[in-house]
Amino acid sequence: MGQTTSELINLVASRRVLERIETAARKLEHGTPQQILEWAFQEYGDTLTIATGFGAEGAALIDIAAKINPQFHVFFLDTDFLFPETYELRRRLEARYQIKIHAFKTAITPTAQEHLYGDNLWARDPDLCCRLRKLEPLQAALQGRKAWMTAIRRDQTAARANAQAVEWDRRWNLAKVNPLVTWSKREVWRYLYQNQVPFNPLHSEGYASIGCTHCTRPVQLGEDERAGRWAGFTKTECGLHA
Ligand code: SF4
Repeated sequence: MGQTTSELINLVASRRVLERIETAARKLEHGTPQQILEWAFQEYGDTLTIATGFGAEGAALIDIAAKINPQFHVFFLDTDFLFPETYELRRRLEARYQIKIHAFKTAITPTAQEHLYGDNLWARDPDLCCRLRKLEPLQAALQGRKAWMTAIRRDQTAARANAQAVEWDRRWNLAKVNPLVTWSKREVWRYLYQNQVPFNPLHSEGYASIGCTHCTRPVQLGEDERAGRWAGFTKTECGLHA
């Protein structure tokens, strides 16, 4: 059976959206994070939301965003298993930039998770634990949005190597903007120091990348910056950016 008129109209509209994003990605490939943020605020307005995991990159992104559009919307995924230092950083960032960093979390408390799936789910099936505590809340956070923004960098993991300044996120079905995509770790830290941006003190104790307490350890000299995440598993991503 052929496509209906409304299906054809939707198809043409989707193609136009994709073409617009691909054109912007080419233009912004050599743009600064500030230029990418300016483009994104102009393109998506209130339908854009920024995700932060409170890493060094996330803190830099909040600072850049606040200087361009103080009314930006920002959220984090509260797994209930974040470090106390991370919750404290949330408070510091909210106070410094006079913003609300919205929390999205599962209705399944840690106790309920233990009853439903047994103890230490993260040690037996981290993919399921991440799905419950991160992916489902992310789906709720992106509901009704046309675009989300992340602080990923290409050189963080193999899965991020092909990330674009702006791209279509097939998994979540909306545009994804990655202003720091071409930055190195060194550039992130230079920005934090030059602009006196608050950051998680755990970075100074060897935690290169910081997630949940159960799945994060400090890295040793010479180790990959994400080696401290899900140590003992081949997992390097929680699935947000797959
Ligand atoms: S990072 Fe670990 S504790 Fe956090 S949601 Fe994923 S598996 Fe669970």
